[in-house]
Amino acid sequence: MSATLMDGKALAARVRAEVKDEVAELGHVGLATVLVGDDPASQVYIRLKHEAATAAGIEAFDTRLPADTAEDDVLEVVARLNDDDGADGILVQTPLPDQIDEARVMRAIDPVKDVDGLHPLNAGQLFFGRETFVGATPAGVMRLLDEYRIPIAGAEAVVVGRSLIVGRPLAMLLLHANATVTICHSRTEELDRHTLDADILVAAVGRPGLITADMVKQGAAVIDVGITRTDAGLVGDVAPEVAEVAAFLTPVPGGVGPMTIAVLLANAVRAARYRRGLLAFPHI
Ligand code: NAP
Repeated sequence: MSATLMDGKALAARVRAEVKDEVAELGHVGLATVLVGDDPASQVYIRLKHEAATAAGIEAFDTRLPADTAEDDVLEVVARLNDDDGADGILVQTPLPDQIDEARVMRAIDPVKDVDGLHPLNAGQLFFGRETFVGATPAGVMRLLDEYRIPIAGAEAVVVGRSLIVGRPLAMLLLHANATVTICHSRTEELDRHTLDADILVAAVGRPGLITADMVKQGAAVIDVGITRTDAGLVGDVAPEVAEVAAFLTPVPGGVGPMTIAVLLANAVRAARYRRGLLAFPHI
C-alpha cells in the first residue's frame, strides 16, 4: 500500500482563488507584517506571504527592524499599525530576538487585527471552542483533513509538538472536532507508544526523520508540519517509508506549507470583515 498524498498545493490554490474574489468584493484588504532581525527562514516566509497577498489583491506592507531593536520600539510599531486604518491584519513574524518578550508583543496587537491568533483573547476564544482567529498552520491542517474526508470524531489524534503557533492550537481544534487527543513533546517517554495508537498523527517538531514507519499505525492519516532546510532541499519530520504504512500523508514541500500561506490570506479577509462590522467580533 502507498499512501494517498494530500495535495496542499492544489487546495491552497482554491483557497487563494476564493480569497481573491472576497478581496475584490470588499474593495481593499491590508496586511501588515513586521520582521525583526535577519533570520533567513523568516525572510523567506515573509517574502512568500507578501507574494501570495499581492497575487490575491491584498495590499501587503512590511516593517523591517534590525535584530537589536528594543522591545519598546517593536511595541511602538505595533501601536502605529493598530491605529492604521489601512492595516486590517497584523502579523509579527516569530521567533523574535531574545531581548523581546514575544507574549508582550502579541498582547499589544489589536485582537481584531491578530491574524496569527496569538493574542490571549483569540487564543482564549479557541480554548472555549468559540474560534475567532486561529493560526494559519493549524487551521490549514484542519482544512486538509476536511478536504480528504478524514474522520475526526472518535478518532485517536496524536500531535507531536506543543508550540503556541502549531501544536497546541491544532490539538484544541482536533479536540473540538471530537477527536481523542494526545499531545507529545520533548519530554514524552516512549513516543512510539503514543504514535502507534494514532488514527491521525501530526508531526510538528522540526526534526527530519523523527517519525519512522515503525511508529505509525497501518492506515493512519499522517500530517507532516515540519520544515527543515537541508542540502537536499526542504524535508519534513516524517521519514519517506511512512508512505508504505499510512493511508494519507502530506508531502513536504507541497502539503501543509502552501495551506499556511493561503489561510493567512483568508485570515486577513476575516480581519477586514470584522473591522467593517460584517462579522461580529467579541469585544470584552
Ligand atoms: P517549536 O516551537 O520549536 O516546537 C517544537 C515542538 O517539538 C516543541 O513542543 C518540542 O517540545 C517538540 N519536540 C522537540 N523535540 C522533540 C522530540 N524529540 N520528540 C517529541 N517532541 C519534540 O516549533 P514550531 O514553531 O511548532 O514548528 C515545528 C516545525 O514545523 C518546524 O520544523 C517548523 O519549521 C515547522 N512549521 C511549518 C509550518 C508550515 O507551514 N508547514 C508552519 C510553522 C512551523 P518542548 O515543548 O518540550 O520543547
